[in-house]
Amino acid sequence: MYLPQEIIRKKRDGQELTAEEINFFIQGVANDSVSEGQIAAFAMTIFFNEMTMPERIALTCAMRDSGMVIDWSHMNFGGPIVDKHSTGGVGDVTSLMLGPMIAACGGFVPMISGRGLGHTGGTLDKLESIPGYNITPSNDVFGEVTKQAGVAIIGQTGDLAPADKRVYATRDITATVDNISLITASILSKKLAAGLESLVMDVKVGSGAFMPTYEASEELAKSIVAVANGAGTKTTAILTDMNQVLASSAGNAVEVREAVQFLTGEYRNPRLYEVTMALCSEMLVLAKLAENTEQAEAKLNEVLDNGKAAECFGKMVKGLGGPADFVEHYDNYLEKADIIKPVYADNEGIVSAMDTRAIGMAVVGMGGGRRVATDTIDYAVGFDQFIRLGEQASANKPLAVIHARNEAQWQVAANALKAAITIGEQAYIETPCVYRQIRAEDLA
Ligand code: URA
Repeated sequence: MYLPQEIIRKKRDGQELTAEEINFFIQGVANDSVSEGQIAAFAMTIFFNEMTMPERIALTCAMRDSGMVIDWSHMNFGGPIVDKHSTGGVGDVTSLMLGPMIAACGGFVPMISGRGLGHTGGTLDKLESIPGYNITPSNDVFGEVTKQAGVAIIGQTGDLAPADKRVYATRDITATVDNISLITASILSKKLAAGLESLVMDVKVGSGAFMPTYEASEELAKSIVAVANGAGTKTTAILTDMNQVLASSAGNAVEVREAVQFLTGEYRNPRLYEVTMALCSEMLVLAKLAENTEQAEAKLNEVLDNGKAAECFGKMVKGLGGPADFVEHYDNYLEKADIIKPVYADNEGIVSAMDTRAIGMAVVGMGGGRRVATDTIDYAVGFDQFIRLGEQASANKPLAVIHARNEAQWQVAANALKAAITIGEQAYIETPCVYRQIRAEDLA
């Protein structure tokens, strides 16, 4: 028999908790026998004392098992179940292409995604800009669409990892969100409850990333790889760049438009292509759908070129209630803003830096994201045709095209963008799109 306060005391005094103690505490979180004050104290002791890897694995598994853990075996998918998760970025629309690309290569992607958080965009908000698309289908429909289309991207259901929901809400109001042990367990408990066989984790680095430095992003990536593999799910992390907006657009409908254009080959931003291919290739290798990265890339390029990936996207949209001809006629369905107009830099020069977080907040400021959970989203607003680092801003080359509801909003967004983009005279030194990959064997 344990007592929550004794578990907190033990951790407070620097001792390692057993899996049984962690299980007991998290069960108490799930059944409300542990108070909010105790959760706050527990989180704060972890903030100051960190957790060992065995403790992190125990915490992840306990939170994963606090609610429903999906078992897909009855669906007989006939292929590996694989997923990706990102720590969040701006213009990061990779999930919308990646899911269909993996599906077209024989994988099954039952992806449970989130809404925008702070300055980062949310996959669910983007998908909701498609009329009719239902992000909260029944579990049966979720499974059926995954089987038919190979991919279904939906929202979190209340019964997945409910303990994390309570712990996260308390962390949010007690300055204990930014801790690697707690972030690892929080992200993985939700992902692993979705019944995956393998996972690729996209950990962002740079001015728009959740973690403040490269070193912190790398530490989080290593923690996630160690804990997920320790919990029995084959996982690789890839560190990718968020020192600039990833796609050419940032917003909701504008990003969905870019995702469809990517899938059909109408337009592919090279940085978005490189990151998407790196994530997809590793997913295929982990799921044993390809022997190595070269073979994976060849398969992925084939399903992009022959239209199979776009077809899987179309089937997913239709299966979840969207228009049957969305891929062919996306512009008939995606809402457009009233003012669509470029913004130019005040002086010509090379783009040498972007405050990507500030650009994400400019999207939120226009109504493309939420300040509080109850805010409604304006799907039409945002930016597209973003300039990239190293490019020359000039009278012919705008910083971006702003999609705004009215002139006043356009002006605020233009000022925000000009403040967020640094124009220099010096040659810009390019940073990679993909920094490094961390596989389980790299940690040995
Ligand atoms: N996202 C999560 O789901 N949990 C965290 O702790 C941080 C980011």
